[in-house]
Amino acid sequence: MDSEARREQHFVEELKKWHSKNKRVLITRDEYFETVNELITSQETKVKNPRQYYLIKKYDLLNCGDTQKLIRKRKDEKSEPVYFVFIEETFSILKRAHILTGHGGRDKMIKNLSEKYANITQESINLFKAGCIECQKKKRRPTTKGTVVRPILTKEFGTRGQVDLIDMQSIKGRFSWIMVYQDHLTKFIVLRRLTSKRAAEVAYQLLDIFLLFGAPQILQSDNGSEFTAQVIEELKVMWPQLLWSMESPGTLKARGQ
Ligand SMILES: [Zn+2]
Repeated sequence: MDSEARREQHFVEELKKWHSKNKRVLITRDEYFETVNELITSQETKVKNPRQYYLIKKYDLLNCGDTQKLIRKRKDEKSEPVYFVFIEETFSILKRAHILTGHGGRDKMIKNLSEKYANITQESINLFKAGCIECQKKKRRPTTKGTVVRPILTKEFGTRGQVDLIDMQSIKGRFSWIMVYQDHLTKFIVLRRLTSKRAAEVAYQLLDIFLLFGAPQILQSDNGSEFTAQVIEELKVMWPQLLWSMESPGTLKARGQ
């Protein structure tokens, strides 16, 4: 068994464990086809019992080639179908969505999947992402210590900005950190005094700078990817229209502002 198959097996086992605790959302392949058959019977029965009414109200069937797919009851035939999936096929569906979103983050995947599927849980997505080797590699990529760093070429002012913190805690005073924001091309520097290295404080100062010069397309930092990610989270709160994504460790790319 190769590692991908092992991963899928583990994934299915975990989902089945959750299913045994809470049967409301996840369904097994057997339950899926039982429901399909029950639904067909319900549709054909003239005098329906409450269970059959319930099924008809909740589900519908969609012919896909020679199979019938279980979908959420639609308002009309024109609206897009939302499919129910069973545990055993969830892995391959998540894999497809994950690759389509370019190893996208959880939120991106949830958005992508919730439009199309009725019962894929956030926990399943988290579990899938945690097992993705590519995503883990991206996260754990070592720092460039000791290797040759290719110089980054920037053509315009405001394309790439670098934010770093200088520790001043050993010097007594009200401000224990200095924030250095530098435009990559012009080397133009803005300095800000910080009372802490909290992401919220850094983000607040950055936003102030961005409102003055415009936000860079790419924000990078030598303080590590975790730091940059936290700062971006804070920036998103203050400026929801700003879309950032991780380009490589410590580097965030902004698209559409
Ligand atoms: Zn991935």
